[in-house]
Amino acid sequence: MMTRIITMTLTVCICSSMYTADESDLRVFDDVAYAQDAARKTWQPMEGSPAVEITSFGGRKALLMACKFHGNRVERASWDRLGPIDMTACDGLTFLFHCPNPTPISGFSVYFRSGGGWYSGRFDAPAADGWTPIHIHKKSCSTEGQPTGWSKVDAIRISAWKARETDTAIRIARLALFGGRGPIVILRDETTAAKSADSAREITRYSETVAQCIERAGLDHIVLSDRDLTADRLKDRKILILPYNPQVPPATLDHIKTYLQSGGKLIVFFHLPGGLESLTAIRSGPFTPQPRPGYFASIHPSETPLKAMPPITAQASWNITEPAPASDKARIVAYWHSDDGRSTGKPAIAASDTAIFYSHVLIGDDLPNKTLLLLAMVGHLAPDLWQSAADRNIAQIAQVAHYTKLAPALADLKSRAAGRKIALDALDEAEKLATKAKSHRAANEFSEAILTAQSARAAMIDAWCAVQTARPNEHRAFWCHSAFGVEGMTWDQAIKTLADNGFTAILPNMLWAGVAYYPSNTLPTHASVAERGDQIQLCLDACRKYNVQCHVWKVNYNMGWAADRTFMQKMKDAARTQVSFSGAAEERWLCPSHPDNQTLEVESMLEVARKYPVDGLHFDYIRYPDRDHCFCPGCRSRFEARIGRKIAKWPADTRNDPNVEQLWLGFRRDQITRVVAEVAKRAREIRPGIRISAAVFQNWPIHRAAIGQDWRLWCERGDLDFVCPMNYTEQASHFQRMTENQLEWAAGVPVYPGIGLSTWPDRTDICRLIDQIHAARTVKTGGFTIFNYARPEAAEVVPRLGLAMTAP
Ligand SMILES: [Zn+2]
Repeated sequence: MMTRIITMTLTVCICSSMYTADESDLRVFDDVAYAQDAARKTWQPMEGSPAVEITSFGGRKALLMACKFHGNRVERASWDRLGPIDMTACDGLTFLFHCPNPTPISGFSVYFRSGGGWYSGRFDAPAADGWTPIHIHKKSCSTEGQPTGWSKVDAIRISAWKARETDTAIRIARLALFGGRGPIVILRDETTAAKSADSAREITRYSETVAQCIERAGLDHIVLSDRDLTADRLKDRKILILPYNPQVPPATLDHIKTYLQSGGKLIVFFHLPGGLESLTAIRSGPFTPQPRPGYFASIHPSETPLKAMPPITAQASWNITEPAPASDKARIVAYWHSDDGRSTGKPAIAASDTAIFYSHVLIGDDLPNKTLLLLAMVGHLAPDLWQSAADRNIAQIAQVAHYTKLAPALADLKSRAAGRKIALDALDEAEKLATKAKSHRAANEFSEAILTAQSARAAMIDAWCAVQTARPNEHRAFWCHSAFGVEGMTWDQAIKTLADNGFTAILPNMLWAGVAYYPSNTLPTHASVAERGDQIQLCLDACRKYNVQCHVWKVNYNMGWAADRTFMQKMKDAARTQVSFSGAAEERWLCPSHPDNQTLEVESMLEVARKYPVDGLHFDYIRYPDRDHCFCPGCRSRFEARIGRKIAKWPADTRNDPNVEQLWLGFRRDQITRVVAEVAKRAREIRPGIRISAAVFQNWPIHRAAIGQDWRLWCERGDLDFVCPMNYTEQASHFQRMTENQLEWAAGVPVYPGIGLSTWPDRTDICRLIDQIHAARTVKTGGFTIFNYARPEAAEVVPRLGLAMTAP
């Protein structure tokens, strides 16, 4: 076996943009310093996985975990490390990882058990011959069930999800906690998150957006659960942030008051807890919903602004809580403007020397200016934090793509530029700005140093974009989730932007299972069509004008958040909606086995092909929501009719009886496949040359069972002309590995893999996007599909790709 010396500094961090602890900052709690017996007691396999073994690799003791996937019905290989661990005062878990053959694995989950629930994070197997440090950040973890705080973690579970029926193995060593010493605390409202999955998602989203801006600003921070907050854990912290905390428990509020009384500072978004007026000099004013979309469009400094505030910060809010000064110690520092550029007169931000209140949650649009805005807020409350932020921002100028140091980065980019003027100009600019940033820093002009360093880094990124090369005859597409295209642009402008930058196709979401954004005879037409026009026609007109393909995207089975209530009720009354395994009604999902639903799915898509000269029809959600659906009475009777006998115990036998289970999974697959086949056949008769495509899940062997999506079969039968697996990962090597598997399954049908740009922590991360386009090119897909075409992507990403990578 080949052994290697551990080279911590040369290996790639999972999240290269994220703060990564150095070895000296680690608190190691498991160095695998035990014998085989103890290892097996500490690490317990889940059913279907073998016990761990102690091994040695790269000069370290390690755990070997065998993933037995061949001929094994398990979906994942899993091990639980038992034992309490207080994870309150850290940023997360790190461990050393090695996997010689990650191909059979679709991805990894790490779970932390706490009380009656779990925190869960994900990582992808890195491509490396030796040890790679993996970092699971607490702030990126989602919750399942009702975890009771990071102080109560009593088990860590590591799961490898199966992609192929091939055995493999992973090695793990040196488990440690990292970080957690930052001067800023972000408080996550887990009291509210525990109430519902929707609340949990919102809490995660808005805490992450704030964390991301703090991080982009070059500031260290820690995320604490409201359940874990104590006076001691706030001691010596400079700023406490409440990113979205609808409910502050009384004990937590007491800690916050004590903290403020002893000189702590507070930034609050949207919900200012009661009882803080005298301490913060700010109070909560009226709750104000938008009178029309676009009313709250951007934030502008008042005549008494914060120092170094950006002149305009875009944020499309739908409602606000108006901040108001409670005494003359506070003032309004920014106001809301509408999309027509006029001030609404509604206050956006109030500030005192102790606290800042922002009238809504922080939305992830316009991240560059959001970052500057947060930096201004932090600088107002704790000016000394600007100094370390300045140093980090200056260091980050060179940290673009794989570069780390400025001089070699400039030299390498200059040689790659090969005389191209745009690239050389950007490099000139970067060099000048970097020098300027350093001189501001030397003169203790910290906010200027930060702003200049960020501009220098932006110029470096421009240079990186400009030294790329385009590949001819590539299928370059964007999904567009809004039927109205890009906010703030007409369809004409949105499509022209794509065409100008070398994109060849758009997949606009024009219909769901319960709503259409064009005049439809099969589905309820959305009310906005009367006012804003036939969206397919408008999009298609622009596509014809600029020679961009239009593949109309339907969300199947799911009626959609904008579906008509009357229609949804009608479907429910007609027993056409889904029922879960446990008997819960799913109001938004149509039952895939109901013949009328199949007809509706098929006819609505054929209507599009009949009415409009579109280039293609694109399936999405062409599947069951999960394993737990659909178990409605209709599914039962149709299944029984098909197999010619009654099921004694419904629905339990579909899981407990292996024979029934196989028949059941096949029955589900057939319902979905029938719709795909019917649309493909008849759409081609209606409009010869039309192309049929689908957005599908990554891992066909698992998902054909889990969600009834047998897309390999659809490719083999010729029902699909191309397929777009949603390979949403942050890591290019993982993206490439998934795509390689999919090319095999697609059996010659083009695979234009989906790149999850808008699902990444930074939805404008152009360097990561370029890496993944390179990965698609490496495995010769002939194209790619990016999710999702919206305002930040149209403004920041598409023009940068068009500089060279996708230049027409
Ligand atoms: Zn059903």
